[in-house]
Amino acid sequence: MAAVTQKSVLSSVPTQLLIGGEWRDSLSATTFPVHDPATGSVLVEVADATIADGTAALDAAVAAQADWATTAPRERGEILRCAFELLTARTEELALLMTLEMGKPLAESRGEVTYGAEFLRWFSEEAVRIHGRYAVNPAGGSRLLTLQKPVGPTFMVTPWNFPLAMGTRKIGPAVAAGCTMVVKPAGETPLSMLALAAVLEEAGLPPGVLNVITTSSSAEVSEPIIRDPRLRKLTFTGSTSVGRRLVEQSAEQLLRVSMELGGNAPFLVFEDADLDAAVDGAMLAKMRNIGEACTSANRFLVHESVVDDFAAALARRMGALTVGKGTKAGVEVGPLITETARDGVDELVRDAVERGATVLTGGVKVAGRGHFYAPTVLADVPAGARVLTEEIFGPVAPVTTFTDEADAVRQANATEYGLVAYAYTRDHARVLRISEALDFGMVGINTGIVSNAAAPFGGVKHSGFGREGGFEGIHEYLETTYVSLNP
Ligand code: NAD
Repeated sequence: MAAVTQKSVLSSVPTQLLIGGEWRDSLSATTFPVHDPATGSVLVEVADATIADGTAALDAAVAAQADWATTAPRERGEILRCAFELLTARTEELALLMTLEMGKPLAESRGEVTYGAEFLRWFSEEAVRIHGRYAVNPAGGSRLLTLQKPVGPTFMVTPWNFPLAMGTRKIGPAVAAGCTMVVKPAGETPLSMLALAAVLEEAGLPPGVLNVITTSSSAEVSEPIIRDPRLRKLTFTGSTSVGRRLVEQSAEQLLRVSMELGGNAPFLVFEDADLDAAVDGAMLAKMRNIGEACTSANRFLVHESVVDDFAAALARRMGALTVGKGTKAGVEVGPLITETARDGVDELVRDAVERGATVLTGGVKVAGRGHFYAPTVLADVPAGARVLTEEIFGPVAPVTTFTDEADAVRQANATEYGLVAYAYTRDHARVLRISEALDFGMVGINTGIVSNAAAPFGGVKHSGFGREGGFEGIHEYLETTYVSLNP
């Protein structure tokens, strides 16, 4: 097998729009650059879609919908299965591409290819398990039947932090359900999605079922698609502020909507926890994806009797991490996505320090090229510090304390977000109590990672609504028709 190099992956990735089964340039013939966040250099140029390209992509999705809805479920499933095999076989190429455009270390990119591919495998198995119900009318006489049908053409908007998995988490269930799609990846990281589209095409996805538009004008190109009466569903993963705006736009056509938005995950460490395991879990929950994950632990709430030991151990581990370009062997922490993102993280740290927090490790930008930030642990972070209320999206762990279980739950729930909460404890009765009391869509107990294609991923409150993965995932793409049958 030929060696996988930067040159080989960048020369083989598509850089055009995929519309109606054709790879083509933007109607304006313009392009925009994709940068390597580790160096700031331009990797490639990709087609810059216009509003008319967006409409053409929706035209193609609408035209393909009827045939796709009646394609045998087994056939839809087999296409997903084939794409799963292809992605898995090409892990090295896809991982390198992802690291180049997004910055995360190669080992993490490989992990995302595996995680992302799992959604295709899971939904390949779900495609053949779509079924309705049959019931006798409680009053006797008629029969009550339900059918499940695809929702219809769907617009998918995805973020830069998991450029592949945020695509497969939506595309997998949509393909399984029989929906056609227009996908708009983030402008920072379009390459992984374009590579995924090429894989799905190779796996036999018919023309027009999946259309991909890359653009530097997301707002302008997206809005007409969302307001188009032919669209039936919008699914978005990204920030709460943009999500809110898209929900407003989707009201016009009363679209089915799924929103996977921001988070502010609490990480609770109780006095009975296995502290070594809690520190291992904290490293995962904080440092996965350089802290640029909606599931990142944002607040470490630790029982006051163990906080010093926990914070010191966490600082030792965080301080020992190797920061650098994600393609370099041994690197554990890559660059943040942009200079603006790095400035935002640094401001949160400065604010906490001004209010009295202590820096146990890090707390500074790493000098030189690229947007690197030193892994940081802040102790004694006072209530009111912005770092506790805002999504950090970087390698910063603020540590604070609680006095008892009720205080822990109260502080954990004191956020407008509700995506995921983590807790370390060995008390099983407490596990049940807090799982019920925590106001989050997901709870991780004695683990720093909850994401799994077989489980329903999603949040409550300002973290959004809808679930991706699990049995629930496909229902986001299905409508129920009830038939009243009088025999
Ligand atoms: P973002 O909201 O800035 O962008 C997300 C996507 O929306 C991108 O494709 C972007 O180009 C597009 N976009 C931006 N403005 C738009 C507009 N006005 N109209 C239409 N599209 C627009 O978010 P981001 O910075 O790319 O991603 C980080 C955010 O995503 C974080 O808040 C993170 O928590 C969230 N996220 C959530 C989940 C989840 O599953 N809950 C997963 C990953 C990321």
